[in-house]
Amino acid sequence: MTAPEFPTGTILGYPRIGRRRELKRAVEAFWAGRIDAAELGRTAAGLRAATRERLAELGLGRTDSAIPESFSYYDQVLDAAVAVGAVPARFERLLDEDGRLDLAGYFTVARGEGADAPLEMTKWFDSNYHYLVPEIGPETAFAAHADALVAQVREAREAGFVTRPVLVGPVTFLLLAKAADGAPEGFRPLDRLADLVPVYRTLLAELAAAGAEWVQLDEPGLVSESLDEPRERVLEAVAGAYDALGADDARPAIFVAAPYGDLAEALPVLAAAPVEAIGFDLVRGDVPAQLDPVTEEALAVKTLVAGVVDGHNIWRGDLAHAFARAEALRSVSGSVAVSTSTSLLHVPHDVDEETALDARLLSWLAFADQKVAQVAALARGLSEGRDAIAADLDAASAALADRASAPGVRVPAVRGRLAALDATAFTRAGYDDRVAAQEDLALPALPTTTIGSFPQTADIRRARARLVKGELTDAAYRELMREEIARVIRLQEDLGLDVLVHGEPERNDMVQYFAELLDGFAVTQHGWVQSYGSRCTRPSILWGDVSRPAPMTVEWSTYAQSLSEKPVKGMLTGPVTILAWSFVRDDQPLGDTARQVALALRDEIGDLEAAGIRVIQVDEPALRELLPLKRADQPAYLDWSVGSFRLATGGAAPATQVHTHLCYSEFGVVIDAIRELDADVTSIEAARSRMEVVGDLAASGFDHGVGPGVYDIHSPRVPSVDEVRSLLERAVDGVPAGRLWVNPDCGLKTRGYDETVASLANIVEATRSVREGV
Ligand code: GLN
Ligand code: ZN
Repeated sequence: MTAPEFPTGTILGYPRIGRRRELKRAVEAFWAGRIDAAELGRTAAGLRAATRERLAELGLGRTDSAIPESFSYYDQVLDAAVAVGAVPARFERLLDEDGRLDLAGYFTVARGEGADAPLEMTKWFDSNYHYLVPEIGPETAFAAHADALVAQVREAREAGFVTRPVLVGPVTFLLLAKAADGAPEGFRPLDRLADLVPVYRTLLAELAAAGAEWVQLDEPGLVSESLDEPRERVLEAVAGAYDALGADDARPAIFVAAPYGDLAEALPVLAAAPVEAIGFDLVRGDVPAQLDPVTEEALAVKTLVAGVVDGHNIWRGDLAHAFARAEALRSVSGSVAVSTSTSLLHVPHDVDEETALDARLLSWLAFADQKVAQVAALARGLSEGRDAIAADLDAASAALADRASAPGVRVPAVRGRLAALDATAFTRAGYDDRVAAQEDLALPALPTTTIGSFPQTADIRRARARLVKGELTDAAYRELMREEIARVIRLQEDLGLDVLVHGEPERNDMVQYFAELLDGFAVTQHGWVQSYGSRCTRPSILWGDVSRPAPMTVEWSTYAQSLSEKPVKGMLTGPVTILAWSFVRDDQPLGDTARQVALALRDEIGDLEAAGIRVIQVDEPALRELLPLKRADQPAYLDWSVGSFRLATGGAAPATQVHTHLCYSEFGVVIDAIRELDADVTSIEAARSRMEVVGDLAASGFDHGVGPGVYDIHSPRVPSVDEVRSLLERAVDGVPAGRLWVNPDCGLKTRGYDETVASLANIVEATRSVREGV
């Protein structure tokens, strides 16, 4: 086919939650029954219209397919599942006679209802966005439902736009799916590719009929080696799927985007496929200088979309370098366009909304709107020549130079301290010596504890909001938090837990709390990004060398400890998690930044010890999340991530019991890293896998304390005493009772008090009965 020309500048996607989180509010109002589907639909259409106008204003073409239709009510993977008719059997009751879901039904699949569990949620590549996992079985009856996408194309047309619909591509869709319950042993969702591709053909044909000239199929699955399918099978799937999709005449031109990494061996395969444009993530990946002749020839007649503007981070970056990289691709193909490396879903809307941030810091930043403007400038440079955008390039370079030399970015005292470290800083006394030194904690067999947070009640959140607004003095706020801590300590004493926590009421968020107290971080006012569904987070900006001006948690922990004879755990967030849930400087290796954070935590641990705290937990729920997608990059990551945890905890005395907490149960390649953390006690999620993880850990040679979660805190369900007892009996088979701890899967902050008290009472009772038998 002769393809319409691809726009010179585009983005892979734009935040959909709204500049003021309008979509979040409307969706939650719909869930609460305060607005109906029609009103929610109007809000969404209004947001889409505003987005198109804004993107055109910022320099993307109105009628050349430069503007992506990347809206979603909840999640783009769920949207793809709905578009191909892959709704799990338990939700079939929600479909109308044409097999369609209405809005209420769509949200039910996302959130579950009664006994019908929602789709599982998991991390989207190496980002902090979570998608819903499609469930595919041999029986899944695929059928095309293009209505939502078609409606957006039409809606745009009516407003005078020709936009580009975006859909998760068929290979990535199946790679991200899991086998439906009841699927035979050995069944893989990718087995269904041949049945799925015709449905995509129908979707594309319907989009073309509605007036779409280009369609974007997102295939980040091609850059990842972490999805459990052999690489050769993935490449075969790509070849097969795109040969078939490309064969149709009645289709829009196809743009395959491969964000989050390097295409590597997938590049020749994609080059050989009958698609018209390929998107490269040139922030994470590359187009090799030496291509094989067949690939070179194939690429010469395609549009190469150079993802040179980082969609994953908030820095203004090196625009001149970005331009040079895009221009370099012109030696491969005469048709080159610029784009963001990934969807802008991962960054907040607009730097201009931040009125409280330091002006100098602001000048180094680019949020979504600034990145769109950068793309537009680079595109102009491609068409009109470098001189046309010299001023833009120079301004970005000047900001970069200013950032490199600004006070706080490189602090000699911090750097000197890191440079002076030797191996001993990363190593504690041997485990057996520590166990002996900790004996006076006098813990029973199977000690009971919790992961740290207790329910964040409306009162707590109201108090914090009033503090921020200035309606409450700092002293009054602190007094309220102390009262809360006293209540939580009393409750745990009454329940009979063995190692107590202060409950973390003073923390708005387990990362932001520390970011606000450390030097080198800044906190935004409106920098929200979607985490999943209507949930948003406001990552802090780690811009400079990190140090700790004053103790951060000592006051709360010592107050809590003063109220009980039992040990109260000090509670810190680990360096990897602090990095993972912040926007992190890109001007030095992540490992260097992590070690700076580690030193600050190390000092905090020293102060906690000096204040008499005997048990200290350093949470690393994000250890797995930052794992690089490429196997070759994983050892270096595990090295610095484990190293930073060990640096944070390496100064703890043998008598101090160091705990860590990890939030998942499928460890895969990080299982060895968990052993290497060398924590005295590791609590992990385990209830959903029925304690399987205990055996996996033992098999990997892990022989320290372990607290496999005995109930899932993600739902209000109260586990029965019998249920917990049977899980503990399973665990005791795999771990000597002296090393086994009893705790929930994760923190309790999102739970209510009723179910929390009932659940904890049951786990204490179950533990007592199991203790008698050991
Ligand atoms: N200590 C934290 C809490 O209990 C841990 C949270 C987490 O693992 N995500 O809330
Ligand atoms: Zn957790």
